[in-house]
Amino acid sequence: MADIEMKNIVKKYGDGFPAVNDVTLDVQDGEFMILVGPSGCGKSTLLRMIVGLEDITSGEMKIGGKVVNTIAPRQRNLSMVFQNYALYPHLTVFENIAFPLRLAKKPDDEVRRRVNETAELLELTEHLERKPANLSGGQRQRVAMGRAIVRQADAFLFDEPLSNLDAKLRGQMRAEISRLQRRLGVTTVYVTHDQTEAMTLGDRVAVLRKGVLQQVGSPRELYEEP
Ligand code: ADP
Ligand code: ADP
Repeated sequence: MADIEMKNIVKKYGDGFPAVNDVTLDVQDGEFMILVGPSGCGKSTLLRMIVGLEDITSGEMKIGGKVVNTIAPRQRNLSMVFQNYALYPHLTVFENIAFPLRLAKKPDDEVRRRVNETAELLELTEHLERKPANLSGGQRQRVAMGRAIVRQADAFLFDEPLSNLDAKLRGQMRAEISRLQRRLGVTTVYVTHDQTEAMTLGDRVAVLRKGVLQQVGSPRELYEEP
């Protein structure tokens, strides 16, 4: 587990207006931080800078107390769940979840143990030998989640993970994510434009507008009438 400290973070694409403009934000160890704001306000850009998929123009990014500005994504030990979670269609659920462990060349017995624990947590145990095509949308989403958490990363980053699901499934997955995060207690940054998700999942909500951090507070402070 690790905290994430962003100090005066700026991102400019080319010579245009900054996509992220002087953002200073601390995500505490074990905290669930929600990032909200209108389309184009810089949410994905900020998330990609945390993960290391985007260079930082200026400012300092620290994870677990260590400056990571020039550290490659692979070396950051973070897990990111994208909106379009791509499962490997030719692999079983077991191997889909196991994938990051195989990449890291973990021994077979450890892979088996960790995949089984993860499957149990996500109620996928009885589906481990199936292929993604034979799963429901919710089950597929849980497999994608499993692949993200199996690695025991220092932090989870979510980029609108539920936006492609229908309302019913979204509700179920919201409950699932909430349960998981409380159980695992892993530092999480979660991008959404869904107010219900922001209100129910987050310990705190950070509001971005045109690349600038406007407000940070508990969901209650931000959304409830005084
Ligand atoms: P979202 O609003 O969900 O973040 P976008 O449609 O803004 O999605 O962006 C989708 C992808 O297109 C991202 O990978 C982003 O980096 C890229 N993108 C967005 N705006 C531009 C742009 N002006 N020029 C080049 N790529 C862009
Ligand atoms: P959000 O995730 O909040 O929708 P983004 O981080 O995708 O916002 O985009 C923030 C701003 O940066 C937007 O103006 C977008 O067009 C621009 N942008 C994003 N990615 C790129 C890119 N690869 N190249 C140029 N501009 C980009």
